[in-house]
Amino acid sequence: CGIVAYVGYREACPIIIKGLKRLEYRGYDSAGIALLNGNLNVYKKKGKVSELENFISDKNTHSHIGMGHTRWATHGEPNDVNAHPHYSSSKKIAIIHNGIIENYGSLKQHLINKGYEFHSDTDSEVFINLIEDIRENSNISLAEAVRLALHEVVGAYAIVVISHDSPNQLIAARKGSPLVIGVGKDEFFLASDATPIIEYTNEVVYLNDYELAVIRDGKLDIRTREDVSQTPYIQKLELEL
Ligand code: GLU
Repeated sequence: CGIVAYVGYREACPIIIKGLKRLEYRGYDSAGIALLNGNLNVYKKKGKVSELENFISDKNTHSHIGMGHTRWATHGEPNDVNAHPHYSSSKKIAIIHNGIIENYGSLKQHLINKGYEFHSDTDSEVFINLIEDIRENSNISLAEAVRLALHEVVGAYAIVVISHDSPNQLIAARKGSPLVIGVGKDEFFLASDATPIIEYTNEVVYLNDYELAVIRDGKLDIRTREDVSQTPYIQKLELEL
C-alpha cells in the first residue's frame, strides 16, 4: 500500500518511519522496514507504524539506505510474517511491493519445484524469489534480473528491491501502482506519493508504467522494461508543507 525508501548521507530509518506515517491516510494493516548496514536487516509488525517504531527502538537501526512499507493485505492474512519487506530465499535481497501479482500461483509452483521455500502467503515473496532465480541462472546484475522479472509477472506493482551486496543501490519499478522519485543533492527518495518527500526536495520524477529506476552510487538511471534508456523528466513541486 505505502512505500518509502531512502539512500543518501542522512540516517535512513527516521526518514522512512516519518514517511510511512505521512502515508498512513492510505490505510494499512502492518508495517515493516529493511535497513542495510553490513547486514540486511528486516523488521516488521502487524499493526500501526508506531508499533513498528516501538519494536525497533532497541535495535541498531543506524543506516544510510533502507526501505519501508505499509501493507494492505491482498494475499495472506495480516500478520508479522506476511508484512513486508520480504527476503528472497538466500536472504541476500529483499522487496517491498504494492499491488497484486495475478500469476503468482504458477510462478510459485515453478519456484517450489526448483527447491525454493516460502515463509509467507504473499504474492510479493514470489516476486523476490523470481528475481533471485533469474539472477542465479545467469551472470547478470541484480537490476538486469529485476528487469527480466518484469516480463514474467502479470498484475500491478510498485516495488523497491535492495541487496546485501550493494550498499549504495535501490532498484525500483512500477506498473499500475504509483511511484515517485525524489531527487536531492547526493540523496534520493522513493515513495508512493510525494508527501514523504517534499520536506527534503521539491524535485521529483514520476516513474512511468513498465519503467525501472536504478539508483546506484549517487546516480539515477531510468530504463524501460525493454532496456531502452530514458532521460529522467524532473518536475518541480510547488506544494505547501
Ligand atoms: N499483494 C501484496 C500483499 O498482499 C501487497 C499488498 C499491498 O499493496 O500492500 O502482501
